[in-house]
Amino acid sequence: MKPGKRALITGGAGFIGSHLAEELLAGGFKVTVIDNLSTGCRENIGHLLKNKNFRFHKNTIMNERLMSRLIRDCDIVYHLAAAVGVKYILDHPLDSILTNVQGTEVVLRLADKFHRKVLLASTSEIYGKDLSSASSEDDDRTLGPTSIGRWSYSDSKAIDEFLALAYAKERKLRVVIVRMFNTVGPRQVGSYGMVLPRFVQSALAGKPITVYSDGLQARSFTYVKDAVWAIVGLSLHKKAEGGVFNVGSDQAVSIKDLAIRIKTRSGSRSKIVFIPYAKAFGKRAADFEDMGCRIPDISRVRKLLNYRPHFDLDMMIDETLDHFKGKRK
Ligand code: UDP
Repeated sequence: MKPGKRALITGGAGFIGSHLAEELLAGGFKVTVIDNLSTGCRENIGHLLKNKNFRFHKNTIMNERLMSRLIRDCDIVYHLAAAVGVKYILDHPLDSILTNVQGTEVVLRLADKFHRKVLLASTSEIYGKDLSSASSEDDDRTLGPTSIGRWSYSDSKAIDEFLALAYAKERKLRVVIVRMFNTVGPRQVGSYGMVLPRFVQSALAGKPITVYSDGLQARSFTYVKDAVWAIVGLSLHKKAEGGVFNVGSDQAVSIKDLAIRIKTRSGSRSKIVFIPYAKAFGKRAADFEDMGCRIPDISRVRKLLNYRPHFDLDMMIDETLDHFKGKRK
């Protein structure tokens, strides 16, 4: 794929999508974004609206007439539109499942019709729970029962992956699947549950930093620019076609240590408080189950792209602090 090509980004007004749009424009692509602004926002792409190579449609990916035209008129689809954030998913289970399953079905069917390449953004939720070590792409999945709503997200995204792989196998559709792990950076909002911006916002406001449970659950964080670099690299690499790739960082940190680091680096006087899940989630608690560990094995993407995240955790915390300080001015 050469510069001058046309990319369609579904969910392009979201946190990751807006950074992807910037990266593709910088690489010489013409970029069209479709987003219904359910969790994304116009502000995320406001600075791109004047760019002659950028188009924005506030619309849903379920609008097949529009999607048909947009997919016909592009060379590659970056399919990022999906429900995001644990809290959003618990509050809107129906919308989350339908967007993931029906929306992706529309994208893949039309991409197949017009023979367009698709990059499908999937998620580390695919792996499920009880993860004791780094997850690799071919690991088994371990999920909770259907009575716990959280797991519907994992299964709906798994259906997306199955569909994409089936189109690749039976219809020779060119697809690349990326499983995104915890990603952070400017424009991410804490309101849907993402821990790092939540802790940063609490620290800046002098409010308690609320660690759920004992805080020993482990995560790793990737800066959005590193993640987008990997997404673009994989989408343009011939050998990535038909493959599934983890995109994230393999540097683990416990949530308790994350809280301490954010408090220290911000110089905040906020207290770090530990609260049980039942209190944190209230009536949503019945639908929630946490993961003790969510860390990717990134050897596959590292090997193909020589991928190495550039931003370490302290840099990410500082960038996020700067971002929210800027917003408060
Ligand atoms: N978490 C927390 N306090 C918060 C928000 C999240 O302790 O205010 C914990 C949460 O229980 C989880 C981790 O931080 O163990 C990451 O949560 P997030 O929702 O950001 O991502 P995910 O659980 O989907 O990896």
